[in-house]
Amino acid sequence: MSLRTKFMLALLLTGLAAVAMVGGLAYVGMTKKVDLIRREQAAEHFYTAVSGYLRTYGSWQAATAVEPFDNYMRRYQDLRGDRRPPPGEAGPDTDNERGPERGPRPEPEADGPPDANARLPQAPPPGQAPPLGRRPPPPRANGEPPFHFILADQDFRVLLGAGVYRHGEVLPEAARKDARRVEVNGRVVAYVSPEGVITPSKQELQYLQAMREALLAGVTGAAALALVLGVLLSRGMSRKLSHLTTAVRAMHGGSLLQRVPVEGRDEVATLASAFNDMSEKLARTHEELHASHQTILAQAEQMRELSVRDALTKLHNRRHFDERATTLFSHAVRHRQPFTMVIGDIDFFKKINDQFSHATGDAVLRHVGEILRSHMRLSDLVARYGGEEFVIALPETELPQAAALCDKLRHMIESFPWHEVHPELKVTMSMGVYADLAAGTAEAMLQKADALLYRAKQTGRNRVCFG
Ligand code: GH3
Ligand code: MG
Ligand code: MG
Repeated sequence: MSLRTKFMLALLLTGLAAVAMVGGLAYVGMTKKVDLIRREQAAEHFYTAVSGYLRTYGSWQAATAVEPFDNYMRRYQDLRGDRRPPPGEAGPDTDNERGPERGPRPEPEADGPPDANARLPQAPPPGQAPPLGRRPPPPRANGEPPFHFILADQDFRVLLGAGVYRHGEVLPEAARKDARRVEVNGRVVAYVSPEGVITPSKQELQYLQAMREALLAGVTGAAALALVLGVLLSRGMSRKLSHLTTAVRAMHGGSLLQRVPVEGRDEVATLASAFNDMSEKLARTHEELHASHQTILAQAEQMRELSVRDALTKLHNRRHFDERATTLFSHAVRHRQPFTMVIGDIDFFKKINDQFSHATGDAVLRHVGEILRSHMRLSDLVARYGGEEFVIALPETELPQAAALCDKLRHMIESFPWHEVHPELKVTMSMGVYADLAAGTAEAMLQKADALLYRAKQTGRNRVCFG
């Protein structure tokens, strides 16, 4: 599930839960409060009527002898102007439960004067005594017991049983709990006790219905608001995060220096800012690392170069020559190409050192090295083999060409303006040239060339011997 969907769902659930909790609690609280107020008002109303009835006549017996309670109640209600309309007339309800604004309509006693009240106790069949104790009240449409009052005398004997208790029966302990005393001249003459469940009036039902509709509208509104907010906020959030995602992908692709926009001051902005810092540091560190890596590579190359070069002449050294010559020899054998090995040795070099100085000897070595290097092809290999000895490997070169090249080199060394180094200085070189791959190895070829060099030395020096 995407972050966006999660975010929207969270908002939606939170919004709905909040509305349901606040609205639901308000609805339940309101309903209970309405019930309570109605019960209190109804109780007060009935209590006032009964008190008046009993105060007027002194006692229940005296009162019912003069005027049935029903009659008194009708007068009482007429006086109050809240008597309900006769049957057939439009009215707020037809039950005996009254709204708080009208008060309850009390019921007459079971054996009292006839009345249309539905909760009058039914007369038992002839010859059969009515059952004792509490009887179930007549069922109501919603299945709950109707709301009414029980009136009992000072000894808790039922005067008005409301269809629940018989006249004269003693009110059970449970029903006495909520009973309220009716006093006349400071003497308790009766008890009034509420019974059953109060039902809302039509107006109240409409009021509660309006509340339910408002609650439903609130839930719908909260859902719509949560969805709209979810879309807007998650769009902003996912846009910010997508900048970061793109930048991270670019970093993964190698572009370490990335900048994402920092908008607002929320956590995403903090993350974006930290990301920018991190990217900058990472890029800088990477640059430094790259630079130092390049330096190391250059130094390694320098070291490698130094390790294969002779410090004085800058020509390759013996070790490198031996490695490369072996490779060139193998290549020549494999491709059946000509290959020539040359070894040259400066004549009477010891004398040069002795006669003109060691430094002059070094200068001679450098100049000879330069003459050899500058007349070689790129594919040729020339090296200082040790002391005043030089070696040359000439791939793809036949013996005659090699001998001619060496004689040219010999001549160039001889004719070099050595007097510029020292007025009396003269330098020559003897060389041995060997070009037969049958020797078997590069080393063996070099030994053959060395033998030819020895012959050149023996036959007067400053010459090239080949074979
Ligand atoms: P030949 O004609 O028979 O080759 O005689 P030579 O004197 O050239 O040969 P020898 O082997 O007797 O002398 C070589 C000298 O080269 C001895 C040594 O001091 C000198 N030498 C070796 N390496 C260097 C160097 O790097 N610099 C200098 N100046 N002299 C060196
Ligand atoms: Mg030598
Ligand atoms: Mg020598």
